[in-house]
Amino acid sequence: MIPFNKPYYSGKEKSYIAKAMETKILTGDMKMIRDCESFLESKYHFKKVFLTNSCTMALEISALVVDIQPGDEVILPSYTYVSTANAFALRGAKLIFTDSKSNHPNMDEKLIESLITDKTKAIVLVHYAGVSCDFSMIQNLAKKHNLFIIEDAAQCIDSYYLDSPIGTLGDIACFSFHETKNIHCGEGGFIAINNPTLLEKTEIIRNKGTNRTAFARGEVAKYEWIDLGFSSMPSAISAAFLFSQLEKIEKVQKKRLRLWKNYFKILKPLQKSKQIQLPFIPKYASNNAHIFYFICSSEIERNDLISFLDSNGIQAVFHYQSLHASPYYKSKHDNRTLANADKYSQCLVRMPLFYDLKTDEQEFICSKVIEFYSK
Ligand SMILES: *Cc1c(COP(=O)(O)O)cnc(C)c1O
Repeated sequence: MIPFNKPYYSGKEKSYIAKAMETKILTGDMKMIRDCESFLESKYHFKKVFLTNSCTMALEISALVVDIQPGDEVILPSYTYVSTANAFALRGAKLIFTDSKSNHPNMDEKLIESLITDKTKAIVLVHYAGVSCDFSMIQNLAKKHNLFIIEDAAQCIDSYYLDSPIGTLGDIACFSFHETKNIHCGEGGFIAINNPTLLEKTEIIRNKGTNRTAFARGEVAKYEWIDLGFSSMPSAISAAFLFSQLEKIEKVQKKRLRLWKNYFKILKPLQKSKQIQLPFIPKYASNNAHIFYFICSSEIERNDLISFLDSNGIQAVFHYQSLHASPYYKSKHDNRTLANADKYSQCLVRMPLFYDLKTDEQEFICSKVIEFYSK
């Protein structure tokens, strides 16, 4: 079986974990965490990075940091992972789900302005497959209506909008190091803060609502309960694992991009014959090769393709189910139809893409997709 994903290993994980264990400081604001944070800050010019134990946690922190109150409205895509929405629902926000674009699963920026009311507090962006939304449009809207921009950048390590790394343009961006992402530590993530007025608050919320981090720096005589907060820190074991992966990011990205481009090239004839729609990358966005997906012409065809590949030992998978139509939210959603989000729920399929995927395996996968479409 060719699996959909195999987590990447740098090969240095065990020796870095052993080094972390020798320090006998496995929790708190230890050096291994700061090393990962500094690496990210210097490579991608984030103003400040806080490592977390997941992107989900980073999103939950962000909702507290911008002080979402019951009844506040948050604009977000329907075609996304549940964590994007859950973080704000937990604080009592009203979720204003927005449709995707016809040529990309990302939220359609042109729909946003008409959804803004005097209760709107934030626009939550998701950059699907690591492909940036149109930031200049979003920034103009946020400025005009005085809204926070929070990014679910879970899939966006090493992604760019024009020359700016994703995570440097909004107020807060949340990234994931879950084992399904390009680099990982099993479960992990970080929150990048670019709005300096949110920095101190984030530091407190991420550390159980205490000023323990300032205490560790010797800035206060004792640490106290200052605000609401979460236990969000990874251990030194996760950070050590992660640091070994961060060091290999260029190598991982080069390989993934090569595999991604190879899929695109081999499957292009199926787009020419209008049988599938290959991924579209706008001029302002980079491609970090997080996902290789394409769009089938119907749900039945997509499901048949997944079964056909499965019977040939290939694990291809669909992706999100529109959140506005989910069992939890369906009755709370207003009546807008979100046709593009539904289209991606029904027709999008993802091919296996991971560092260790072999060229001959990839050629086999493509040959089976082509065989399916020539039947
Ligand atoms: C992976 C992912 C998440 C969740 O990340 P975790 O680190 O597993 O919490 C959230 N949003 C999106 C868009 C994702 O792809």
